[in-house]
Amino acid sequence: MTDLAAWAAERGVKFFLCNFTDLFGVQRAKLVPTEAIAGVQKGGAGFAGFAAWLDMTPADPDLLVMPDPGSVIQLPWKPELAWVAGDPWMDGKPVEQAPRIVLKNLVSKAADLGFMLQSGVEPEFHLINPDGSDISDARDTQEKPCYDQSALMRRYEVIAEICSTMIALGWGPYQNDHEDANGQFEINWDFGPCLQTADQHAFFKFMVKEIAEKHGLRATFMPKPFSHLTGNGCHVHHSLWTTDGKTCVFDGDDEMGLSDVAYHFLGGLMAHGQGMCAITNPTVNSYKRINAPTTLSGSTWSPQSVTYGGNNRTHMVRIPDGGRMELRLADGAANPYLLQAVVLASGLDGIERKLDAGKRLDIDMYTEGHKVRGARKLPLNMLDALRAFERDKTLVSAIGNEFSTAFLNLRHREWTQYCQHLTQWERDTTLDC
Ligand code: ADP
Ligand code: MG
Ligand code: MG
Ligand code: MG
Ligand code: MG
Repeated sequence: MTDLAAWAAERGVKFFLCNFTDLFGVQRAKLVPTEAIAGVQKGGAGFAGFAAWLDMTPADPDLLVMPDPGSVIQLPWKPELAWVAGDPWMDGKPVEQAPRIVLKNLVSKAADLGFMLQSGVEPEFHLINPDGSDISDARDTQEKPCYDQSALMRRYEVIAEICSTMIALGWGPYQNDHEDANGQFEINWDFGPCLQTADQHAFFKFMVKEIAEKHGLRATFMPKPFSHLTGNGCHVHHSLWTTDGKTCVFDGDDEMGLSDVAYHFLGGLMAHGQGMCAITNPTVNSYKRINAPTTLSGSTWSPQSVTYGGNNRTHMVRIPDGGRMELRLADGAANPYLLQAVVLASGLDGIERKLDAGKRLDIDMYTEGHKVRGARKLPLNMLDALRAFERDKTLVSAIGNEFSTAFLNLRHREWTQYCQHLTQWERDTTLDC
């Protein structure tokens, strides 16, 4: 399918949301009438880069966002509208700092090495009040609310509508549940090539917020919206395949069902575990989820150190099954494109340098973690994470120098802004000093 105008005519689509995702994960769109989509498909939709979270100035020329017809989706809940992800270009070249371009570069690097990454994400979210002050269901107060059938049923209308939409889109959703925090839900669907998963992840966040709003609620993917409750993770399950998608090169016959290539990929995740946090856990709030004290439910379910284990949810990487692994580090603020990109950049580096993943740990990291000598701690805050990323020169260049410089510029500026903010905690602890 290449001609968006013809595609729209067949389906009665009247408008397109031609969008791109910026460095902070915000989707920026122009609403283009079908009458004008052929022109946009040829010449792009214009945006001033400085007006979005990109490291640009007001003097820079326009970005031209080229819609990628492979990503187009007709909205099942508003069929006259289509959503299409695009790639920003400037001065006749792809914009190297743009997240979707960063991922595409890594996908083609993997292809040059004979590989393609397939992945599935688990973006957890809370359903909250429209004013954001509390969860939306006042009766959802159980200490262990995970899988709670009654609480799930009280949100049946909204969850079932999201899931039905995903069925209509052919994503293969296979389960919905109430998660470990009061007010928290998760929907799982089939894995696929990582660019497809990134587009789906971007669309998923948009769809969940839209449908929740239609039901008078609000959805948030904020990493830690409530300090006493489990936060919103975004685990990434992934497996590496030959480029034709026929053979999984992670499949092996050791005790965990993994190959040597899989262990080298894992070695890359371990080597860059601290450096990648700036991408997987990109906000100030992200560091209230990892390294957090125990929550009301009894567990944060989020990692604290760079370790891996078998089917054990207390480590940064879990191997639930042969032929795949789960990175449990990322949270709901992770940019869908950069998340896949950082997994791929780290893993390929592990393969190229034949890195050693180290020993598997079978302990409960929450209670016995202190016994593990040399386990590297995850960053304690965003500044730690930005510095760890900056220090990890291999990762910086593997994911792209131009992107990394832009990302670090914007995130350092955000950290400085945060530091200038006076909190109630400071007043409470320091007024009487
Ligand atoms: P859990 O909660 O146990 O971590 P979920 O069922 O919630 O697992 O999510 C598993 C995710 O992993 C889904 O998106 C699924 O499609 C994906 N997945 C399963 N097998 C593979 C695989 N071989 N490669 C990549 N992703 C996979
Ligand atoms: Mg104008
Ligand atoms: Mg899950
Ligand atoms: Mg979960
Ligand atoms: Mg998981």
